[in-house]
Amino acid sequence: MTAPFLSILQAIQAYDTIIIHRHQKPDPDAIGSQVGLAELIRHNFPDKRVLTTGYEEPTLSWLAAMDSVSDKDYTGSLVIVTDTANKARIDDERYNNGDCLIKIDHHPNDEPYGEIVWVDTIASSCSEMIAEMAIELGWTMTTKIARLLYAGIVGDTGRFLYPATSSKTFRIASYLLDTGIDAALITRQLDTLSPKLARLMGYILEHLQVDHSGAARIVLSSKILQGFDIRPEEVSLVVGLPGKIDSVDRWMICTEQADGSYRVNLRSKTLTINGIAKEHHGGGHPLASGAKAYSPEEIAAIWAKLKDLR
Ligand code: AMP
Repeated sequence: MTAPFLSILQAIQAYDTIIIHRHQKPDPDAIGSQVGLAELIRHNFPDKRVLTTGYEEPTLSWLAAMDSVSDKDYTGSLVIVTDTANKARIDDERYNNGDCLIKIDHHPNDEPYGEIVWVDTIASSCSEMIAEMAIELGWTMTTKIARLLYAGIVGDTGRFLYPATSSKTFRIASYLLDTGIDAALITRQLDTLSPKLARLMGYILEHLQVDHSGAARIVLSSKILQGFDIRPEEVSLVVGLPGKIDSVDRWMICTEQADGSYRVNLRSKTLTINGIAKEHHGGGHPLASGAKAYSPEEIAAIWAKLKDLR
């Protein structure tokens, strides 16, 4: 898809209030793209009122805070949603209350919502897309903005590890570094763990079930998480861990939620796993997807598919 930079620019120019959303259970790319875009518009269009909304994940509070957005703010506003493939995953259901809706995302475009849709599935991260747009439109980039976008890129590429990392990713990262950000500090903040999460990592490595096919799984019940004093949301910080083991090719981490269902993080080094995620109330990228399981039987069904994948 050709990037509709001019349509997005015209929409920004046409509205006084712009409200930016992103997905539930945010990760650094969700926050980085959302608040990075907000700061870009604030800096380059000082007359605009720009607001960000969504749940404040405590483990990411070092990156950015959200604004307080009232229902009235949506009247006659432009709403932009970053990093979110489908409407059901948008954080803050008021996203439809504005006058115009724009989707900017790098996941497969299974649900093209909004008047303007810019989806680039080749992009490593939504933050990379926002930085690209800023460069193409000649917007001024500050250190504050570059820090947010760089964190999003580092987060979604696993520190430039995953295959979606391209030469363009490095060109954009280089551009962001040139603003003078402390890249080492950002990477360290993304990579720092609390002692209790470190202990959970030990548990995962100790109890990971690895199949001879290269598939691996771990189930983290509420009881186990309580034993480590860990909230279910914090597990996302250690999802990449099983992939460090050379005999593990693909893996699933099943985390029990407050309602008794399981969030299933699916990851793979080679084989495409988003088909399995789609069959179990989820979706995502070919090598990084999320699903849900509503019973131990559904966990077993996902596990069987992961083992059988060729
Ligand atoms: P996660 O395992 O939650 O870190 O998600 C990995 C990728 O899958 C992310 O790009 C998510 O946007 C996507 N994803 C996770 N859960 C879902 C879901 N329920 N529906 C669609 N996509 C999802």
